Amino acid sequence: MSLIFQPSANIARLKESATLAVAAKARALKAAGLDIIDLGAGEPDFDTPAFIREAATAAITAGATRYTATEGILPLREAIAADANRLLAHGPPITAAEVVVSSGSKQSLYNACVCCFGPGDEVLIPSPAWTSYYEMVELARAVSVPVFGEEANDLKVTAAQLAAAATPRTKGLMLNSPSNPTGAVYTQDELSAILTLAAERGWWVLADEIYLRIAYEGGARSALEVATTRDNLIVINGVAKAYAMTGWRIGWTIAPVAVSRAMTAFQSHTTSNAAAVSQHAALAALGRPQEADEAVHHMVREFQRRRDAVMAVLSAYPTVRYVHPAGAFYLYINVAGFRGAADAGAAFAAAVLEEHQVAVVPGSAFLTPDWIRASYATSESVAVAGFTRIARCLTGA
Ligand code: GLU
Repeated sequence: MSLIFQPSANIARLKESATLAVAAKARALKAAGLDIIDLGAGEPDFDTPAFIREAATAAITAGATRYTATEGILPLREAIAADANRLLAHGPPITAAEVVVSSGSKQSLYNACVCCFGPGDEVLIPSPAWTSYYEMVELARAVSVPVFGEEANDLKVTAAQLAAAATPRTKGLMLNSPSNPTGAVYTQDELSAILTLAAERGWWVLADEIYLRIAYEGGARSALEVATTRDNLIVINGVAKAYAMTGWRIGWTIAPVAVSRAMTAFQSHTTSNAAAVSQHAALAALGRPQEADEAVHHMVREFQRRRDAVMAVLSAYPTVRYVHPAGAFYLYINVAGFRGAADAGAAFAAAVLEEHQVAVVPGSAFLTPDWIRASYATSESVAVAGFTRIARCLTGA
């Protein structure tokens, strides 16, 4: 008997990741010989620093080829705790017992969603937000509640807006600064107001800080620098963005011990430990802060140069509006009204790809269809060429 696949109730409403879909499409067009400028991918274009690659090679030679503890090797968890303690402003030092290493911050976010949220729970998502937050919350069978920021506030959401969207079923919120997709950075006061509200209401805060080190003009504050309690705080981070290690797949959570135990148990049934060799590579990144800081500062300076270059391009097109890019490596550009389309972002993304060979992500992926996201994590000349084409497509110049 032939079986016709009917998606289970678990994934009946699941949509493929739009960010990864754009990246795959750009790769396919390039492979077909088209000269595509790919501003879709949210991925540093640098090589992983040499000392990290060398540490990984040495680890393989030394036999790091077997299972590790599900929650990760102890020296890495200790190095992550030590790194986080550099930021910590209140409370007892973070210990390795609060750290769970996973196969990427995406998995850590998902572990946290599954373990903290369940059927009927509502989760506030300051929006626009990274496409996978909505899906992860729904995969945990909770309800995602987008809360939209104002353009005048760089699309950031205030504590008052979150309070207004809350109900007795609110169980937590996702926090992401610097923000993907907008590049906006929450100030210390903004973070403090949100964290205080969450602590008062007993909400979980899932603080995704994957872009924390990629911030300009005074940097970005971690929730660890601001929170007065860690009882309701789960900080998610990883090596992918700051250390140009996307393919190594190493992320982690810093969470109360009971939550960390639950996430370890969950992960023990899904993926077990993250790749052993990748954990040793991450150990080099976190355990050798001097070399790592030098590499990170070099990359961040380079991102800033490219950001300034593309802002200079856009300054010649004063009608083009975008969120001030204070961190990460994205520009979030308003394309409302583009050729009269209802989904202006999708129409613009299709047009700029077809007519100007530039790949960008439509804002509908982040629940804001009047916008598009373009990444400047590419060489300065390619970024300048790409943003020039974007501006021409948008203004008809
Ligand atoms: N976080 C990156 C992005 O938004 C990587 C792709 C993904 O996993 O979504 O483009």
